[in-house]
Amino acid sequence: MIRRVRLHTAVVPMAAAFDHATRSRRSAASLLVEIELAGTRGWGEGAPRDYVTGETLDGAVRAVQACDPGELAERIEWRDFESAVASIAQLPLTGLVDGSSAAAAVEIALLDAVCRHFARPLADVLRVLAPPARSRRDGPTSVSLVIHLSRDVATVLDALTPRALAALRHVKIKVADPAGAVDRLTAAQDRLPADTRVSLDVNGAWTAEEAEKVAGELDGVGWVEEPLPPRSWPELGRLRRATGLPVMLDESCTGPADLHAAATSGAASHINVRLSKCGGFLAAARLALRADELGVGCQLGVHVAEVGPLWAAGRTLATAWDLWQTVEAGRADEWFPVPLTTPAFTVDRSLHRVEPLTGPGTGIEPTEELLRHTRCAATWESGGGWRRNT
Ligand SMILES: [Mg+2]
Repeated sequence: MIRRVRLHTAVVPMAAAFDHATRSRRSAASLLVEIELAGTRGWGEGAPRDYVTGETLDGAVRAVQACDPGELAERIEWRDFESAVASIAQLPLTGLVDGSSAAAAVEIALLDAVCRHFARPLADVLRVLAPPARSRRDGPTSVSLVIHLSRDVATVLDALTPRALAALRHVKIKVADPAGAVDRLTAAQDRLPADTRVSLDVNGAWTAEEAEKVAGELDGVGWVEEPLPPRSWPELGRLRRATGLPVMLDESCTGPADLHAAATSGAASHINVRLSKCGGFLAAARLALRADELGVGCQLGVHVAEVGPLWAAGRTLATAWDLWQTVEAGRADEWFPVPLTTPAFTVDRSLHRVEPLTGPGTGIEPTEELLRHTRCAATWESGGGWRRNT
């Protein structure tokens, strides 16, 4: 049933750099997986980030090449949509493909191809997980305002119209040193409506001592994201017990094993669920359901500079489920002024809101502009195996 698979590397320059405590990003670097069935094709994306999952773009290409699409296709029940989705949900993709973002690119491409083949939207895939009724929704959803490290909090918030300020449900602020974090939090709290939540993202930059010392000055913070170096389980547990600080894990939590370690050590009140680092659309959705059962809150986050299938699949989760404490949309419209997808990425920045996409599949197609910045690194043909393009 799978006729051809192409692995593309997409390196797209960004109109502006994005900085956080330990990194600066100036171009997108995604793996695009294109899966061709008879008469239709699906697209998936992974965002390999060495500082999140230890993956590189080239390594992700090799990881996908190490698996046999013919074997995958044989394990998929093609007779109807529900059977196909159920069989994909059973595939141990994160075991078959080494690396979360490589697995995510394959998983999303398979799901997109199957959805398009049966003319169904990606949201229909979620039924296979039998989510609790209270988690279901279908409509526009509020998204966070994220303030970069290089931006002054007061300047950003003072530039908003009163309507945009009132519509804000969540502001996430990138921070570096603890003293600066207190100043940035206070600047936001002074300007925001009392019911708008503020979170700080430290990206692992603090020591346990610094975090314990500053916790008492972070009154009213919604949570602090990744305060310590990744997977400092005992230190995180101690920080939470000593200070009561709500802690969200991001780099520390890429799958069920991390969630389990976090829950048993008391390291987290929240996790940041991002599709690429969690191994895909269904993988991320499953992790969120498990967190919900454990009483751990979830943010649906994005990787910086997702170029298409990733943000579209994320938007499906954002608008199909009501499980999220908050949702990030990303800034693809600002980073890539020439649209990389049809329809183009949009966010209503006056209401901080995104609309659901309409299917089939993820609902988006790559534009010429995106394809212009991609390079086909390897091709697999049914009956012919993999061929690496040099
Ligand atoms: Mg983060």
